Amino acid sequence: MSKINECIECTVQQCAFNACDQNYCTLNKIKVGTHEACPTVDQCTDCQSFKLKA
Ligand code: SF4
Repeated sequence: MSKINECIECTVQQCAFNACDQNYCTLNKIKVGTHEACPTVDQCTDCQSFKLKA
């Protein structure tokens, strides 16, 4: 497992880049976007660096 990035806390355990036992991302940076035309709440945002764990 790669080193955790303490600047990116994440609990998405299904992601290949998640350090599952520690709730952090292991990438150096991530890209966040939205699937909404006009986002209004946090549920409208997505981590676009997500990759399904094999
Ligand atoms: S890539 Fe996104 S979803 Fe995956 S662990 Fe990092 S922050 Fe979480």
